[in-house]
Amino acid sequence: MLEQIEPAPADAILGLTAAFNSDPRSEKVNLSVGVYKDEHGKTPILDCVRTAATELAAEAATKSYLPIPGLVEYREAVCDLLFGSGHEVIEGKRIASAQTPGGTGALRVAGEFIKANLPGATLWHSDPTWPNHPNVFNACGLPLKKYPYFDSQNDRLDYEGMLAALKKIPAGDVVLLHGCCHNPTGVDPTGQQWTEIASVLRERGVLPLLDFAYQGFADGIEEDAAGLRAFSTEGAELMVCSSFSKNFSLYRERVGALAIVGKTAESASALQTQLNAVIRRLYSNPPAHGAEIVNKVLRSATLREQWIADVAAMRRRINNMRQGFVDGLAEAGVPGDFSFITQQRGMFSFSGLSKEQVESLRDEHAVYIVGSGRINVAGLTPTNLKYVAEAIGDVVGQ
Ligand code: PMP
Repeated sequence: MLEQIEPAPADAILGLTAAFNSDPRSEKVNLSVGVYKDEHGKTPILDCVRTAATELAAEAATKSYLPIPGLVEYREAVCDLLFGSGHEVIEGKRIASAQTPGGTGALRVAGEFIKANLPGATLWHSDPTWPNHPNVFNACGLPLKKYPYFDSQNDRLDYEGMLAALKKIPAGDVVLLHGCCHNPTGVDPTGQQWTEIASVLRERGVLPLLDFAYQGFADGIEEDAAGLRAFSTEGAELMVCSSFSKNFSLYRERVGALAIVGKTAESASALQTQLNAVIRRLYSNPPAHGAEIVNKVLRSATLREQWIADVAAMRRRINNMRQGFVDGLAEAGVPGDFSFITQQRGMFSFSGLSKEQVESLRDEHAVYIVGSGRINVAGLTPTNLKYVAEAIGDVVGQ
């Protein structure tokens, strides 16, 4: 019965890391998966995380289950971080929330919630988007459609195309937006554009679903929430999936959250019960460790200050690598203006390399990037930068 099952295709991104790991070439560079690396090519444990974990180990009193939607203190701390403490959606008790296994867990719970509670809703996502978005939402049985997002001729947001498409989405559908650091393009709407997008969706009766996996990686922890907050106006409804994989470097602990903002406090209470029902049948309740760490750091003045400084340092390093990359490409004699790379935000840069060039990079130079041409800038280091730029120069010149 089981032996007739064929192998599944390799994952578009994680499959490349498997290939990278088995590549014997010593000069190999992995710029595919979205993981931050420091200047030595390591993904560090933040000091504030280490301290919190040590304190937690000493304090731990039980390993009994958490509630279905997770630790209440964590959920409150996350909502403060997302919306800003004292925000009307918090004071007005308009949020239903859950601690989830990473940002992917939040997306899956959101998808299942939509499928169960908004029958017939289509989910609209940007073209392009993170390849796991369609995987997750297809698995929930949601119909998917795309809206234009990126102007590849000019390496910028196709704002006119995007807005025109959003203006045609039928009431009752859901629009997935990247809260900041759009993956894979690194291109985000401006504050003014966010406000306009929010009002278009609200007027049309379309529900925004924000995927917010990189808070702090664009311009700052507060600054990056500007888009999300443009949607959080009086009486407005929205869903937010957040992740602490990147900004706490807690990838393997699987820490995320889903916040659903209802019109009223009464509505939010009903939403919370439906959210709990979805989680109960998916994984029953979340794991504790990562969320306890995040909760401790966010609630300690000293640890929180350290964390904010750590996020700023990661952000600065990525932006320095962006500039270094542009300079390196020029030095390697790669024709064209790559200054757009310094304008992009977050871990990724959309290089514009073709599928064939991406393959040559991998086969001839052991430089691994995603097939769409997405480069993880956070994987560049002062040591590998020149090698990568020269490899790109070689494949572009072929
Ligand atoms: N959304 C986007 C756009 C992402 O890039 C990622 C991580 N690559 C996630 C969600 C999920 O992150 P997590 O590891 O927390 O599941």
